[in-house]
Amino acid sequence: MRIDRFLTLYFFSPAIRLVCRSNGLHIPILMYHSISHNLDDHLHPYYRTVTTPERFEQQMHFLSHSGYQVLTLSQAVLLSQEASELPLSFDSQRPKVVITFDDGLRDFYTSAFPILEKFGFKANVFLTSGLIDRTFITGRECLKAQEIKELAEKGIEFGSHTVSHPQLKALSRNEIVHELAISKQMIEDIIGFPVALFSYPYRFPEEAPIFTKMFGMLLVDQGYSIGVTTIIGITKIKDNPLFLKRLPINDWDDPHFFQAKLEGAYDWLHTVQLIYKKFRSMFHAQKASVAKNSLNVRNL
Ligand SMILES: [Zn+2]
Repeated sequence: MRIDRFLTLYFFSPAIRLVCRSNGLHIPILMYHSISHNLDDHLHPYYRTVTTPERFEQQMHFLSHSGYQVLTLSQAVLLSQEASELPLSFDSQRPKVVITFDDGLRDFYTSAFPILEKFGFKANVFLTSGLIDRTFITGRECLKAQEIKELAEKGIEFGSHTVSHPQLKALSRNEIVHELAISKQMIEDIIGFPVALFSYPYRFPEEAPIFTKMFGMLLVDQGYSIGVTTIIGITKIKDNPLFLKRLPINDWDDPHFFQAKLEGAYDWLHTVQLIYKKFRSMFHAQKASVAKNSLNVRNL
């Protein structure tokens, strides 16, 4: 029994179709990681990040068949900022979507790109720059510099996913600056033009506003203007372009569930996600306080 799927399909999806949605611009940003037959099926479906090439092709076919216009992240942000005067290449009648890939895995080149090319779709890839030409922490092979160059020439938009894929909140300010600055430089050296896109690795600490405010300032200081996160939901026109929401997609997203996610029926999960993060943060703060008190007692 998968509760998030059940509620999305049988409660939120019909509910969304019944109520009148606002006319504001909504752009789903899909979050993929690996396109491979090497599935991560030891994990609960909610946490899985692998999609088979067959399922990925089915999802791309759904987008194409449903009339979706696939934008790059830069185009989507431009569109949301200049919605009143759309460039001619944007068809205001068609629904929009952005396709992103985190971690910079090599199966993007071998499995995802041929399918995207078949449908004439562009995508964004976020590279862990220190692992280019190497192996990712999960043991999966990463993209090679020559492949990144080739993909960039074919219109794939690249961004940074840090140098070493750390838990950024656990780092010092200087270490964060290093992750942001060096990854940007390394990717720019390969593709030959400026990088302004960033993807936050792991769980985004939205429950810690002091950290996120500081982190946003560091992103801008280092020359980034657009950022994506693992916060679940569909991006809306007024969202902060540095911390955009995304929809996690994996092999479990059959056409029915995939469509419900694109229509916003999965966004309810953000509330659950936020409550969990706040609870977890309170629990850790309490644990730290107990540890500090027992240390004080021992030092008396
Ligand atoms: Zn990642």
